[in-house]
Amino acid sequence: MDTGLLIALLNPTIALALGAAFAVLWYHQRHRPYLAVLAASYCLSAPGFLFQYFTLPIGFAMTKLVSNICYTTAACCLSGAIVARYGRRVPYVGIAIMAGGGFAAFLWFMFVQPDLTWRVLGVNFGFGGLSLLVAAELRPVRNNGPTEKILFVLSLLSGLNFIARTLIVVIAHGPFPNYDGFYGSSYWTTAVFSHALLSLLIALSLFTAAALDILRALRTETYTDPLSGILNRRGFEERAARLLEQCDKAGFPVALVLADLDHFKALNDQHGHEAGDRVIADFAAKLRAATGARGAAGRIGGEEFAVLLPLSDLGSARLFAEAIRTFYSAGTIAGLPGIKVTASFGVAARTGKEGLMPLMRRADEALYKAKKNGRDSVRLSYERPETTFVAEPLAAG
Ligand code: GH3
Ligand code: MG
Ligand code: MG
Repeated sequence: MDTGLLIALLNPTIALALGAAFAVLWYHQRHRPYLAVLAASYCLSAPGFLFQYFTLPIGFAMTKLVSNICYTTAACCLSGAIVARYGRRVPYVGIAIMAGGGFAAFLWFMFVQPDLTWRVLGVNFGFGGLSLLVAAELRPVRNNGPTEKILFVLSLLSGLNFIARTLIVVIAHGPFPNYDGFYGSSYWTTAVFSHALLSLLIALSLFTAAALDILRALRTETYTDPLSGILNRRGFEERAARLLEQCDKAGFPVALVLADLDHFKALNDQHGHEAGDRVIADFAAKLRAATGARGAAGRIGGEEFAVLLPLSDLGSARLFAEAIRTFYSAGTIAGLPGIKVTASFGVAARTGKEGLMPLMRRADEALYKAKKNGRDSVRLSYERPETTFVAEPLAAG
């Protein structure tokens, strides 16, 4: 098999394999349409590359046209998908100008004023412009993570590859009067290998980005309560442990508020489980809004909630709990007019290096007192854990 044929088959094979891989990934991640666009892009670039080398029965110029359409569409899809993956608005106009410019140059130098050298330059400059446009779009997000940085650099390299390499090779080689020796030229060889390498690297970065997306989604799912949208017990414990550690280092006070909806079993019995679910979601939303980003709010049981409040002592945590209790018992529940629900609260402030579990136990004891007190109230834990206090030895007198 001659080397020219071998390298001509290199890019289509790689492109098809990557296209298939993105298609499989999309099949399992239907809510990420950019994966389908990437699959389409890589699959389309395969005939694009192939018809550069092999001529269809429709004739030479028409084969080149088909190849260019495939290749240009693939490049537009790739650019759009990368920009969309990174949460940026796809610059359709910019993409159309760059891709359209390259395609217009191709048409002109193919059909109107045939010139292989100018056609090569025009097409490559179009794709180079497209790559630089993607780089410009990724510039603001390039420091957000490793895949952002890598793809930004790859887009820049791709731009340079299309523009600088083509210019250098054309200048060094001289103009191409026709296709004699074109596929053995340094232009074609460097083009095939650099495209193979860059498309592999870009695909690998995008695979990594997709894998990170999936991991992040799984982590969020593991730590979130689906009914209320706030942290579940596991998520709350993890975040609370982190907050306790941070506050410990900074020497900030921390307090814990536990809340339990009153007579919830009776509410379920009277109004149905679905109404009960709505009440849980409504209470959680109010708790989350009151907590803000600084603290952690979680649903730690059926109708039990916990809020860890950094920079709060017993007094301020009590005010927080009292405010929620008052507004909650006086307010209405979204979608359930006429239903009144109250909640009881237990509050404990951290002493010394007290861990989450003893803090939760103390807040729970205070909550139990609130329940015993007739509910719809806030009770505090004044107990100090013995382990954190070591008695000073009396001075010898
Ligand atoms: P108290 O005032 O003493 O807290 O009484 P209570 O009825 O609220 O407490 P109890 O622990 O006896 O009952 C809690 C009820 O919460 C029982 C259970 O059916 C209900 N529950 C737990 N999880 C859910 C849920 O996800 N949705 C609904 N609708 N109800 C739930
Ligand atoms: Mg209850
Ligand atoms: Mg309960």
